[in-house]
Amino acid sequence: MQIRENYGPGKFGLSIEIFPPKTPAGDVALFENLDRLTAFQPGFISCTYGAGGSTGQRTVELCVEIQRRYGIAATAHFTCVGSTRQELLDWLTFARQSGIGNIMALRGDPPAGQTNFQPVAGGLRYANELVALIRQHDPGLGIGVGGYPEKHPEASDPQTDLDNLKRKVDGGADAIFTQLFFVNENFFRFRDRCEQAGIRVPIVPGIMPVTEFARIKRITSLCGAVFPIELATRLEAVQTDEAAQFEIGVDWAIRQCRELSTRGVPGLHFYALNKSPACELILKEIRRG
Ligand SMILES: Cc1cc2nc3c(=O)[nH]c(=O)nc-3n(C[C@H](O)[C@H](O)[C@H](O)COP(=O)(O)OP(=O)(O)OC[C@H]3O[C@@H](n4cnc5c(N)ncnc54)[C@H](O)[C@@H]3O)c2cc1C
Repeated sequence: MQIRENYGPGKFGLSIEIFPPKTPAGDVALFENLDRLTAFQPGFISCTYGAGGSTGQRTVELCVEIQRRYGIAATAHFTCVGSTRQELLDWLTFARQSGIGNIMALRGDPPAGQTNFQPVAGGLRYANELVALIRQHDPGLGIGVGGYPEKHPEASDPQTDLDNLKRKVDGGADAIFTQLFFVNENFFRFRDRCEQAGIRVPIVPGIMPVTEFARIKRITSLCGAVFPIELATRLEAVQTDEAAQFEIGVDWAIRQCRELSTRGVPGLHFYALNKSPACELILKEIRRG
C-alpha cells in the first residue's frame, strides 16, 4: 500500500510511528505493543532512522518484520545525515529490494553539540533534495515528508519554512506528516497557509500523548513544540504521580484528536514511542466517535 492510498474520500488514515529498540528485550516489548496497536488497523507503521544515520539497516529490517507479521505496510524513515549521494542511493536500493514501498524522507538533525546542519562531502543539504533523489531513482516509491505547524526551529520565519515545505511537495512528496503539537489552532492556521500556498497533498497531524511529564518536556524543548500553560499547569500539579500524568496526557490527546477529526483532517499519525496503552485508549475513544 502506498502512503497516499491511506487518505481520500471516505477514508481516515491512521499511522503509528515507532523507533528501533536498542536491546533484544526492547524488540520483544515493541512487538507486544504492536500486537495490540495493529488491532486498530493502521494504514501503515513507520519506523524512524536513528540520529546520525545510525540505524539504516535496522530500520529496514524492522519494517520488513512488521510487514511479515502483520501484513500492514511499513514506511522506512530515511535521513541525509552522514551519507553521500551514492550511499543514499545504495540504501534506497536495499530498502526497495527488501520490499519497502514507502519512505519518510527527512533531512535529519545536526549531531549533538552542533547547531548548523552540515552535509558530508557529496551529501545532500535539505530534505527536498532527498525527495528529488528518491523520485528520480525510483518513481514508484511512496514519499512522506515532515511539516512544522509551529515552524521548524531553524527557519527564520513561518513563510520561509512554508516555501521550503512546498519545495518538498513540488519535488514529489505524497503527504505531509507534522511535527508533534499540543495546540490545535496552530495546526489549523498552518493548514490554511498550506492551502493558500497551493499545497494539495494530505497534511496529517502528528500526535504524541504525554505519558511522562519529564520526558515530554525534553522532547518539546528539542523540537520546539509549544507546550500550553493549561496542560503544563495540570501536569505540574501531579509531578510525583505517574498515573495521573498519564491520565491527563491521554485526556488532552483525546480532545485534540476529536477536534482534529471533526475539522476534517485526513488522518492521524501517532508518535507511539514503542508503547501502546496511551494510543490504545485514544484510538478506542476516537473510533467510538
Ligand atoms: C514526521 C517526522 C518524522 C521524523 N523522523 C525522523 C527520523 O526518523 N530520524 C531523524 O533523525 N529525524 C526525524 N525527524 C526530525 C527531522 O529530521 C528534523 O526535524 C530535522 O531538523 C528537519 O528535517 P526535515 O526533513 O523537515 O528538513 P528540511 O525540510 O530540509 O528543513 C530543515 C530546515 O531547512 C530549511 N530548508 C528546507 N529546505 C530548504 C532549502 N531548499 N533552502 C533553504 N532552506 C531550506 C527549512 O525551512 C528548515 O528550517 C522527523 C520529523 C518529522 C516531522
